[in-house]
Amino acid sequence: MSTPTPQHLIEKIKAYNPNVNENKILEAFELAKSAHESQKRNSGTPYITHPLAVAEIVADMKLDDDSICAALLHDVVEDTEYTSEDIKEKFGEQVALLVDGVTKLEKIQFSSKEERDMENLRKMFLAMASDIRVIIIKFADRVHNMTTLISMSEEKQREKARETLSVFAPLAHRLGMYKIKWELEDLSLKYIDPVAFREIVEGISQKRQEREAYIDIIKRDIKEKLSELGIECSIDGRPKHFYSIYRKMFTQNKTLDQIYDLFAVRIITESVSDCYAALGAAHELYKPMPGRFKDYIAMPKPNMYQSLHTTVIGQDGVPFEIQIRTREMHEIAENGVCAHWKYKEGKTNKSNGELEQKFQWIKQLLEIQKDSRDEEEFLQALRIDLFTDQVFVFSPKGDVLSFPAGATPIDFAFSIHSAIGCKMQGARINGKIVNLDYQMQNGDIVEIITSSAIHGPSKDWLKIVKTSQARNKIHQWFKKENREENIVKGKEMLEKEVKRQGYGALNLTSDEYIEMLVKRYGFACTEDLYSNIGYGGIPLANVIAKLKDEYKKRNTDPELKLMEATSQNAAKKPNKASGNGIIVEGIDNCLIRYSKCCNPVPGDKIIGYITRGRGVSIHRQDCVNVSALYTDDEEKKRLIDVLWEDTKQELFLAHLKIVCNDRAGLLVDAANAMADCKVAVKAINARTVKDNMAIIEASVEIKDTVQLDNLINKLKSVKDIIDVTRNH
Ligand code: MN
Repeated sequence: MSTPTPQHLIEKIKAYNPNVNENKILEAFELAKSAHESQKRNSGTPYITHPLAVAEIVADMKLDDDSICAALLHDVVEDTEYTSEDIKEKFGEQVALLVDGVTKLEKIQFSSKEERDMENLRKMFLAMASDIRVIIIKFADRVHNMTTLISMSEEKQREKARETLSVFAPLAHRLGMYKIKWELEDLSLKYIDPVAFREIVEGISQKRQEREAYIDIIKRDIKEKLSELGIECSIDGRPKHFYSIYRKMFTQNKTLDQIYDLFAVRIITESVSDCYAALGAAHELYKPMPGRFKDYIAMPKPNMYQSLHTTVIGQDGVPFEIQIRTREMHEIAENGVCAHWKYKEGKTNKSNGELEQKFQWIKQLLEIQKDSRDEEEFLQALRIDLFTDQVFVFSPKGDVLSFPAGATPIDFAFSIHSAIGCKMQGARINGKIVNLDYQMQNGDIVEIITSSAIHGPSKDWLKIVKTSQARNKIHQWFKKENREENIVKGKEMLEKEVKRQGYGALNLTSDEYIEMLVKRYGFACTEDLYSNIGYGGIPLANVIAKLKDEYKKRNTDPELKLMEATSQNAAKKPNKASGNGIIVEGIDNCLIRYSKCCNPVPGDKIIGYITRGRGVSIHRQDCVNVSALYTDDEEKKRLIDVLWEDTKQELFLAHLKIVCNDRAGLLVDAANAMADCKVAVKAINARTVKDNMAIIEASVEIKDTVQLDNLINKLKSVKDIIDVTRNH
């Protein structure tokens, strides 16, 4: 195969821009060619054929030199050793920015998104392409990729086609780029519904001769009539594009034969008044179909499309559509916003003028839009430069969510559910732990780390959050969970009520009873019980009834034995953390708690301690609290052998203390080391101590001691980390 040359491209550009900077374009071509030297397209052709074809499509839309260069170089930064800096140095900042923009768009994953997310995805696409030329290059890239899809796997073909139909084609429509839109739709249809595609293509070509003869007559008749009236025009007749026929067949449930307006005749005139004159002439020649006339000249479509449409009935009763518009309108109809980017002869692009030009089309749209009804919706979806007030981010599952610019992971967490916000401990952006005041960027993948150890949001968050939703939910929480106050209040309420009901002498608020309540309600601690009573989460009457119950029970069988209590409780209400992963010698199904003092993990040597009424707590054998027990004979009897049950794969929390030389970025490096070991970080914080030293404390979820040892070694290898120990 002969090596592709840029000659054809240069000729194409010269046709609309005689002042083209030919050397710059040739240089861009040569750089792309050598950068992609070793690469081939899937079809086996040299890679350079792709950027060259993309540049030609961009040239079809008559874009400026920078856009052509960027089209030639659009895959260079992504796929080769060249950097954005190299491009900037050789071709200037504009080209580098355009290439960066296209590279950025490359990274959005469109496939398998649900329909409800599509609109946000399209907005994200627009928001990420800060320069409209980036979108045009991206479209050209997509068009060429769709024409060469044949060498891909069938699955990939369908995926790309679906993505093109759901994201790219609607965007092209929105931007008024009908030529690109139709091309993309027809190319997609071939893979989405190959059978129907072939049927339409063959059906249309079968009748081609017959129809062409028919169209020729119509063209001749109209031309004659118009020249009688002294109107200059060019007339063009061609079949409508396949996808629109396809949609008609499906939505109107018709066969190809039943669709009458398979083709349209287009009249291009020199002035608007000629358009209306031509319309009159057409209606004189042919009988118009009622209700089919549309005046998009007086009332342009939101995407700037202007034209007159009418459907008339031909000599032998076959209806066909006539579209009438000026040359300028036609240019806009074909290329939409690109028409405004078109190279203007004698004018070189200066950065200032460029900026103005960038806003120009938006301004024009605003004017056109004045009378239109769905103005609001349209503008919201189209304002690229005005999109700076929004960011679009992904959830780990790929859902797209939009936020005001500057929003943080906290806003994200509360937008999903207040329960997630209230249990939020940290956030990972694109896999890396970030500060909670991180400002989310377009395209970020945001993951919220929650922990059951977190008891609600922090008041400081109110200063960070950007959405009123998050702010309201945080306020709400504080109202409900003004914890300290509620604890005091709840305790008082309970004591008062016990006295009021005349049980003051029964000692119902002693530790034993309170302990019982905590267990029966399933709280983690007495404070939770009190705070719930305090804000009215559990009714006082219910609490008193339980206390009376317990009192009666204890007084009929006052010598309730510890072991009985333990097994009874376990059978009745196994705690969430119970029975998982631990075998207690001689006892089945007993209540297990992992001690908080030493946080044992599988692999640790452990021992059980039979608590007074709270089941067996599991400690590490080297736990200081356990060694204290050996000195007391009574306590020693409560120690019991326990083993890890190795079938369970539960995660355990381990606390690490990392001593290091303080430096910028150390926390990030440590967090990355943890991420490398596939360890989930539940909490991390750092403080500086004297002599420029710092201590990082981290709580991580791990499977066993093997993984823990790995992690510790990995951390020790990080520069400036001096020591890593298990923190008790
Ligand atoms: Mn490409």
